[in-house]
Amino acid sequence: MKHVAIVGGGIAGMAAAFALQQKALSSSQPVQVTLLESNQRLGGKIVTYQQDGFVLEGGPDSFITQKPWGLTLCREIGIEDELIPCNEAEQAVYLVKGSQLERMPTGFRLVAPTRWGPFLSSRLLSIGGKLRVAADLFLPARREQSDESIASFLRRRFGAEAMEALGGPMMAGIYVADPEKLSLRATFPMFAELEKKHRSVIRGLVRARKAAEGRPKGPPMFMSFRDGMQTLVDRLESRLDCEIRRGVAVRALHRAAQGWSLDLEPGEPLTVDGVILALPPGGAAELLAPHDAELAAGLRAIRCVSSAVLSLGFRAEDVPASRPLDGFGFVAPKRAGRTMLACTWSSTKFPGRAPEGFVLLRAFVGGATNEAVAELPEDEIEKLVREEIAALMGIRAEPVVRQFTRWPRGNPQYDVGHLDRVADLEAQVADLPGIALAGGAYRGIGIPDCIHGARQAAESI
Ligand SMILES: Cc1cc2nc3c(=O)[nH]c(=O)nc-3n(C[C@H](O)[C@H](O)[C@H](O)COP(=O)(O)OP(=O)(O)OC[C@H]3O[C@@H](n4cnc5c(N)ncnc54)[C@H](O)[C@@H]3O)c2cc1C
Repeated sequence: MKHVAIVGGGIAGMAAAFALQQKALSSSQPVQVTLLESNQRLGGKIVTYQQDGFVLEGGPDSFITQKPWGLTLCREIGIEDELIPCNEAEQAVYLVKGSQLERMPTGFRLVAPTRWGPFLSSRLLSIGGKLRVAADLFLPARREQSDESIASFLRRRFGAEAMEALGGPMMAGIYVADPEKLSLRATFPMFAELEKKHRSVIRGLVRARKAAEGRPKGPPMFMSFRDGMQTLVDRLESRLDCEIRRGVAVRALHRAAQGWSLDLEPGEPLTVDGVILALPPGGAAELLAPHDAELAAGLRAIRCVSSAVLSLGFRAEDVPASRPLDGFGFVAPKRAGRTMLACTWSSTKFPGRAPEGFVLLRAFVGGATNEAVAELPEDEIEKLVREEIAALMGIRAEPVVRQFTRWPRGNPQYDVGHLDRVADLEAQVADLPGIALAGGAYRGIGIPDCIHGARQAAESI
């Protein structure tokens, strides 16, 4: 029987183990799988804490449904009935402008308006800035097909003001990235496609909105689980029919007579036929360096920046009536000069995140544009975040619950040219028989993409 080791028990490693198991079943070819995780728990960045009736996410709080692989896995492991939709009635997003939160105009689709009325009456841009956004309707499409940064794309189509105040923070915020470096093709290829197809991005977005109006409504944009994202980890783990070794780190990878031998800490070396490396790219580089120095250098070139998440629970009565939590939260453009990158109003975004009579906020700090903040001591971060919550939302009370999670070098950056570099890495890995890569550093950081990549890695093994 073939034996495959999976290094890393995050969602990518777990999904790879499940995919191998399914493949073995459907092809009646048994395969032995060993999942090696250096931590004592599985799930990697997916981690939920329960405290006093609050559901506190240390990492992801949901996954998008537009990409099908997350929902498909939920169906396969039978946890559809534990899914909860985001609150579609209160999807507004705010942007920090000075000391105010300004609501993103209705119909604004990440980069551009699809309804003129709310956009023209919004205070987020000057009149000149709004006219420059409208110029997208008349500008020619870019001829060149090479990758470009989010900032370059937005400036070209909608002008510098909209890039800095609207599209840049919205798009780069998701990746805790610098819009000047973030690859359009690796993160939002649909906008490059809209420009190519419709010339004007706004025209393309309006057409897409109108076409969608006639279609049956799909699932809500984001889904989570009643008891938090940890459900995905726990239920997937319970469906894995393989050897799971927690607290075991893979320290080196050697070629064996047939296959590969892994040095484990603690433990005896393990010899296997194939290895799926589902750990961060720096860790994969360490293991592969003796076998292909260029491949290792390519993996190291995927920069990973640090961020931190601070969840704070408050009494509902501590939220001023003048600042209701009527949306998913807010994003702070770099030029707002804030410590926080963004703040999710978790108890509005999903039901059941705070007990009756309480609210839950989730602040993000660090990322590519302000990484030093993520390295500050926890109490300093809390002080800075609470000062900003007080200034922007008027919440001055002592939190009833707090939960802090730091992610050192936890956010891979998809710099311009990322997809070409990943294609090169994949070609180099193909020259190492029995090795495959999976995880959020390559073809999508989101959970559905990690699951999809893991399936492909399992397939290739
Ligand atoms: C704060 C934050 C918020 C996010 N929000 C969202 C969101 O809302 N929605 C969404 O879809 N995505 C979100 N993401 C992204 C998503 O969570 C990640 O891309 C995804 O979970 C990564 O999974 P992974 O399996 O590739 O890596 P990881 O989860 O990092 O797992 C890798 C595992 O490898 C283990 N490991 C490392 N080295 C070794 C070794 N030598 N031997 C053995 N094991 C090793 C690690 O301990 C870890 O458990 C967020 C990420 C962060 C940090």
